[in-house]
Amino acid sequence: MRTRGGKYIVISLKQPPIPIIKDDPDEMEVIIKCPYCGQETKVGLTYMISGFVGCKNCYFEEGGLFDTTMYLKRFDYPSYVNGGFYNEGYLANKKKWKERKKKIEQQY
Ligand SMILES: [Zn+2]
Repeated sequence: MRTRGGKYIVISLKQPPIPIIKDDPDEMEVIIKCPYCGQETKVGLTYMISGFVGCKNCYFEEGGLFDTTMYLKRFDYPSYVNGGFYNEGYLANKKKWKERKKKIEQQY
């Protein structure tokens, strides 16, 4: 992994430290690459659910990190716990959302 300055920031204890792209004295303004979707984002614009970190680009979207985590918690607990889905990343999980949404709807 290439980093500028080689500095890292720990956002979640469930994940390895994230390389800093642009440092700032204000920690919320520090720019990192979102570990879930890969977009550059500010630390202050990240969100966490069950220890998994996303950003404003990938967290609230339909089929994003929030939806995916809640879905797996309910329907695929082992994947929820081991975080394999998280390593697959945002786009891979978003593709699966249509199927997952169907499964959720069938429950009601
Ligand atoms: Zn993101």
